[in-house]
Amino acid sequence: MDRKRRKIENENRQFCPEWMDLYCFILPDRVGALPVCLICNQTVAVMKVFNIKRHYETHKSFAEKFPLVVDENHEIDITNFTKFLESLKTEFERRYADFRKIKNVVQLLNSSFTLQPDGEWINEAENVFKCNRAHLQMEIIEFQSDDVLKNLYNEKYSKTEIDSTYDEFWLKYVSEKKYPTLKLLTVKMCTMFGSTYVCESAFLKMNYIKNKFRSRLTNEHLEMMMKIATTNHNPDLKQLVESKICHFSH
Ligand SMILES: [Zn+2]
Repeated sequence: MDRKRRKIENENRQFCPEWMDLYCFILPDRVGALPVCLICNQTVAVMKVFNIKRHYETHKSFAEKFPLVVDENHEIDITNFTKFLESLKTEFERRYADFRKIKNVVQLLNSSFTLQPDGEWINEAENVFKCNRAHLQMEIIEFQSDDVLKNLYNEKYSKTEIDSTYDEFWLKYVSEKKYPTLKLLTVKMCTMFGSTYVCESAFLKMNYIKNKFRSRLTNEHLEMMMKIATTNHNPDLKQLVESKICHFSH
């Protein structure tokens, strides 16, 4: 009897597409996936309408704001919203899929003094960032016993909750000479997002420079102008002018 009942329950555990419209749930497209709530991104362990409905009912304010039926004549079609959210979620998962490969090594930025020198992070550093394993291990051991850095870190950075300030610690205070592999690895991680931005803004500037009115622009000239457009360097114009002798006759 018991076995029979369990069998029926198992058979029933299939995701109904209409749960997306009714309860804002989707089923991610991978093996063993559980239904995900589109409102709060939580999963429900049991794939049954009772559990899904019960979860949806916890979002009372959402159900009130976006009721399925307002009155007899005005029916709100939330299919568009749910479809949009679903594709957004898929896009996020696709775009950030690679971050799973470095989920341990990014801890180096904020828990560098407590990481185990032979933890999983070192495998990720070796596979993804192509670091030299032996060098990295030697450097992290030395780094963790560096009292000056440790005190500085504890004083200034350990209490902060903003991730971006860790960049400052690594970029400003960790010596490149003493910890070349470690520093290069952290710099790579700190600039992962920044480099996408720099790249895109450089292409945007190139489109401005290389417009249709500049038909005689040479490659050499373009390169020079790109350098000027993208550099952060501020030339000391006053000194440059003073060092030149101007010929007013020309
Ligand atoms: Zn939810």
